[in-house]
Amino acid sequence: MDARARTDPTLDDLVRHASTGIGSVDLDGRWRSGNRALGELLARDSWPLPDLPALFEGRDRVKVERGLKRFARGDRDSDVHDLTLKRPDGRTLKVRLDLCRIGDDSPPSALLVLLADITAARQIRRQLKASEARMQSVIRAMAEGVVVVDRSGGIRIANTRAAELLGIGQERLLTGQLGELGLVFHDVNGDPLAPGQVPVARTLATGAPQRDVTLGLYDADGGMRWLEMSTEPVQTDSEGRIEAVVATFSDITRRHMAELKLRDSEERLSLAMSGAKLGFWHWELERKVLSFSESAANLLGYADDEVVESRSAIMELVHADDREALIQRMQAHLDAFQRDFDMDVRMCRKSGDFAWMNIRGRVVTRGKDDAPRRVAGTIMDIGERKQLEARLHELATTDGLTGVFNRRHGQEWMEAALDAAERLNHPLGFVLLDIDHFKQVNDRFGHDAGDEVLRQIAALLRDRIRGTDAVARWGGEEFAVMLPGTDGAGTVQFAQQLLEAIRKLSTPDGRPITSSLGAVARRAGEGSGELVKRADRLMYRAKQAGRDRVEAEAD
Ligand code: GH3
Ligand code: MG
Ligand code: MG
Repeated sequence: MDARARTDPTLDDLVRHASTGIGSVDLDGRWRSGNRALGELLARDSWPLPDLPALFEGRDRVKVERGLKRFARGDRDSDVHDLTLKRPDGRTLKVRLDLCRIGDDSPPSALLVLLADITAARQIRRQLKASEARMQSVIRAMAEGVVVVDRSGGIRIANTRAAELLGIGQERLLTGQLGELGLVFHDVNGDPLAPGQVPVARTLATGAPQRDVTLGLYDADGGMRWLEMSTEPVQTDSEGRIEAVVATFSDITRRHMAELKLRDSEERLSLAMSGAKLGFWHWELERKVLSFSESAANLLGYADDEVVESRSAIMELVHADDREALIQRMQAHLDAFQRDFDMDVRMCRKSGDFAWMNIRGRVVTRGKDDAPRRVAGTIMDIGERKQLEARLHELATTDGLTGVFNRRHGQEWMEAALDAAERLNHPLGFVLLDIDHFKQVNDRFGHDAGDEVLRQIAALLRDRIRGTDAVARWGGEEFAVMLPGTDGAGTVQFAQQLLEAIRKLSTPDGRPITSSLGAVARRAGEGSGELVKRADRLMYRAKQAGRDRVEAEAD
């Protein structure tokens, strides 16, 4: 025994174990031999098997009988039939029957029979045909344009929509070459694309699919039609070469125009924002995310990604004195008491100093239950406005020469202080002070020297009062001092000390400056007019009595 004999199967082995049914019949169709697969295929395990034609019915049986006869006449060397086999177990199979003569005798004495189950293969072929037909009808009906272009640029498939979108008749499209249709595509900016830049050409050249490429194409009316095209290579070649490219595209003119419009208005907005020092914020209540636009972050000196996007983190940046009020206003708006909210607050910049910001916002989405979902708003740097406001306020309320309140603001201040004192039943003192013989100061030393004396007296007054008191320039060389919380005795004492302090100031030639003062305390229910009048009368009495003194009412 050699090695080959042990390892190589004999022809008999191969036949016995083959999965195809193999056997032989004589010219009458009687079986002479058959392998196991044949018995299995026919679902018969007892020998002899029915004659070959008897395995089939009707026209198939006739076909087989005729086939055998042709071999008997010597007309045939081989024959193939696709037949239906009804088996004793009730199953029906599609089978392919191959007959082939054995030996060189004519007619042959026996035929080789090969029997194979082609049920599955038939089914697959039928399904393929059906799905191809379905595919064709899907392509025809698609709202998107579909074009299949082969390697040489020939158009193999084009649906009606493609013809419409490209503005070319379907007939012409199907008989044309892509390069010869005179189609000039443009990029998003409206610049014409070189033929090699078009997505189909790119995919043909590189094999890379192109996704959602925006292309412009002039239509018959001279307007630009915008298409969005995607391409997919079809690789059938064994070397991986591209056989064709499928391009699908749709009309996005409307969307594209809307996008352009949006981009325009965004540009304009960002231009306006950079001038106005304006930023945006956006609060999603459910997700608890409060986000700042880049410009909003920049207003506070932060980079885009440096601001922590949460309500509490951003509230931390609001000045402690403004935070509670801001939260209350926001809440009142959320509860729909207000149309929108608008508030000036101080916010901490990254550098650590505070800047005035105007915060405005409005609920933009409410849920079914009317609960607010999203709030959108703006933040604006109003530092300059606040400075201007402060300056205007100062101009409107203070006396330019001395820096103390002017008379109008002093009067307003006193009225508010009187109201509060009345409400709380607190005392309030009022002192009216007039410099003695001031005209002489001007006359002897000049107006500027007079001004300097006025400034010194104002400074002295400011130094002596408490934070809750106020001083106003009441007339040319006349001052008023308001002392909330101070009673009559306290006010007289204060006035007396003032008189002494002013006496320490002197004219350029060294003479003391004297003044006449009227000191009063408010009476219950008294208005400011009456109070001032009483003080004025007392001051006049001081002048009458020889100046350089304080006059008060006897209790
Ligand atoms: P009396 O003791 O009676 O109060 O005498 P008087 O000179 O102080 O009073 P009078 O009302 O006669 O004069 C007030 C003067 O104050 C007149 C004016 O020249 C001067 N005066 C008023 N406003 C200013 C000012 O802004 N600067 C200067 N330098 N003088 C002023
Ligand atoms: Mg005077
Ligand atoms: Mg006077």
